[in-house]
Amino acid sequence: MSEPVRVRFAPSPTGHLHIGGARTAIYNWAYARHHGGTFVLRIEDTDPERSTDENTQGIIRAMEWLGLDYDEGPGVGGQYGPYFQTQRSASYAEALDRLKTVGAAYPCFCSPAELDEKRRAARGRGGFAGYDRTCRALAAAIAAERIAAGEPHVWRLKVPELRGDIVFPDAVRGDVTFAADAVDDFVLVRTDGTPTYNFAVTIDDATMAITHVVRGDDHLSNTPKQILIYEALGVPVPVFAHLSMILGSDGKRLSKRHGATSVEAYRDLGYLPEALMNYLALLGWSLDGETTIVSRQMLVENFSLERVSRNAAIFDEEKLEWLNGVYIRNLSVSAFVARMTPLLAAAGLMVEGRQEWLEKLAPLVSERIKRMDEIVPMVAFLFRDVEVDESARQKVLARPGAGSALDASREALAAITDFSAASIEQTLRTVAEDVGVKPKLALQAVRVAVTGSMVSPPLFESLELLGRERTLERIERARALAAD
Ligand code: GLU
Repeated sequence: MSEPVRVRFAPSPTGHLHIGGARTAIYNWAYARHHGGTFVLRIEDTDPERSTDENTQGIIRAMEWLGLDYDEGPGVGGQYGPYFQTQRSASYAEALDRLKTVGAAYPCFCSPAELDEKRRAARGRGGFAGYDRTCRALAAAIAAERIAAGEPHVWRLKVPELRGDIVFPDAVRGDVTFAADAVDDFVLVRTDGTPTYNFAVTIDDATMAITHVVRGDDHLSNTPKQILIYEALGVPVPVFAHLSMILGSDGKRLSKRHGATSVEAYRDLGYLPEALMNYLALLGWSLDGETTIVSRQMLVENFSLERVSRNAAIFDEEKLEWLNGVYIRNLSVSAFVARMTPLLAAAGLMVEGRQEWLEKLAPLVSERIKRMDEIVPMVAFLFRDVEVDESARQKVLARPGAGSALDASREALAAITDFSAASIEQTLRTVAEDVGVKPKLALQAVRVAVTGSMVSPPLFESLELLGRERTLERIERARALAAD
């Protein structure tokens, strides 16, 4: 039996969880769930200036919202913790000791100024600008003396001289090759004792027993260095899978210029987590090249790295919006009400004790929107008085016949016994004929009077939901704005 799958999502908390990071997290999550493995969240907070606790919380919140539950990580714990890089210095120190013991790391005393000078000279010659290995040649006893004397130094990896090209089978891209001389004796631990990025990531992945590293291809060039560290430590190299970039519709790398890029921004724009998850899952992976609606369960059942595309994916907000509309329409009435209610409450619209009423409202709304943020403006008229929109007044109420249609509608609606959508419809349709105006104008006049605008959810159902008293009041009030 093969070893249990352990994957990780390792964000740096230097900002929000953005679309690209979320897709990486989704693929890791789906891979773990598909294989009954473990999904680890590790916070790479080694950049003290840009990492904040607030960002960490935001990333965790966004993952929770998307339903990306992790088995080990902040707040959950696990036997491979701690799950913050800044709390793992002991394991970096231990790994460095091991590398020293096996002779795979050496101290380097070259000053930054010297290194700069060498680099510049090498570039001038058109040669390799990596470290020239001066300190690799130092006798161990001399190096030890200089360290004992307190001389500042870094620790470098002693890259094996006879190592050929570094080739690794990437689960998405196939074999990837880096020329042996493309990697110099790079720094593992800085003068101040802190680990470099590549050292920390590798030691974390090794000590957390990560079996598959699924991440963005911006890390592709780090991979040969990381492989050399695994080899020097004599520990198994995980499987790597590098995900291609996400591009904006203009073919450029997705960035703020393209609009919202963070998961929480999409939440605030009224996207459903399952729709965003579905969309991002298909941004680089496909079930069969055709299916567009892929539930979480289908994703877990079918996810494989083999079906992840090597090509860059184009983020198409219109398609996401369309998909969101499909998800909204597929919600059951009670599920839609459950999601709509907090949005109404947040906008100060009264929802308490109105469950049944909200259930009647739900289908009128869910059929007509693509994003949840469309709800409040669409239904606010049912909760509070509205001003009649000036262009609606001119286009409808100012027309001859609108005033008498309003009068007749008000009288007829006051007289019906059953204030239901069906009888409201029947009543209003006959009113138009009675007063001799076009039915369309009569109905538009009532719509504008009651909702304040020319576009609204279906009129008769809306009036039923609003109730007779408020309907009559609004028609009465709008009467003053009508021309005749
Ligand atoms: N912390 C890195 C990032 O945010 C990810 C490192 C990795 O996945 O190896 O891009």
